[in-house]
Amino acid sequence: RIVYVNGEWLPESEAKVSVFDRGFLFADAVYEVTAVIGGKLIDFPGHAARLKRSLGELKIPAPLDADSLLDIHRQIVMRNKLDEGLIYLQISRGPADRDFEFPKNPVPTITLFTQAKAILANPKAETGISVITMPDLRWDRRDIKTVQLLYPSIAKTEATHKGADDAWLVEDGYVTEGSSSNAYIVTNEGRLITRSLSTAILPGITRASVLDLARGAGIPVEERAFTPEEARQAAEAFSTSATGFVMPVTRIDGAPVGTGKPGAITERLRAAYIEDRLANAI
Ligand code: PMP
Repeated sequence: RIVYVNGEWLPESEAKVSVFDRGFLFADAVYEVTAVIGGKLIDFPGHAARLKRSLGELKIPAPLDADSLLDIHRQIVMRNKLDEGLIYLQISRGPADRDFEFPKNPVPTITLFTQAKAILANPKAETGISVITMPDLRWDRRDIKTVQLLYPSIAKTEATHKGADDAWLVEDGYVTEGSSSNAYIVTNEGRLITRSLSTAILPGITRASVLDLARGAGIPVEERAFTPEEARQAAEAFSTSATGFVMPVTRIDGAPVGTGKPGAITERLRAAYIEDRLANAI
């Protein structure tokens, strides 16, 4: 693969980042993942806007303007002949002598790489995934998309060791979100429930699009927290993320959700999301 490091395009084996990089030493970095379908970027403006916000919240100077960011995303797709998959972008505060205090004049490190992946023809979208619930032991600023991903990584690993696909995280008795996705249920009355935005969850770009589409389709939406018990009793459940799109969740803690098959509203939203976002891909 050809990767991007601070203005240079290099074969991945030649790309280098300092051992003093604060992304490496302190997880002092933010990231974005943008899906690519047919060589085009899905929901790019949303990802660019969230990146700017994450950088602002952590006072990492924005090293690229919006036009350069788009140009680099387009170039990495072309240079790697990427048809379907994702672009990973990371911006760290850069290298500095190891000190907890932020450096006075940081020089951010920007890296991008691509990963080919079947997004539309994902077999999990046909069967649905199983999740287990686990305590949410992350920090309190989950609205910032930082690379502090050790706990989500532990949670996902534990889920797979227990034979599930992923973990839904629980705090004070309520589901926050998935290890790398937002979480939703559909009640037996056909109401779509997902946690409202706060510092407890990441404001998913897919979430924003899916809620717009649901409201547009006349599906009643309630932004509020739900318990694992309410989720187990729900008619349907699903998660959303940039690369999973709308992913049916068919088992929670071993028990089937509804019929145990992807639900009708879930499938409708997945189809609507694909149609709408492909039409708006850039
Ligand atoms: N929550 C968390 C914790 C995530 O890591 C992600 C994906 N990175 C999401 C939600 C979904 O966000 P998006 O739809 O922007 O990919």
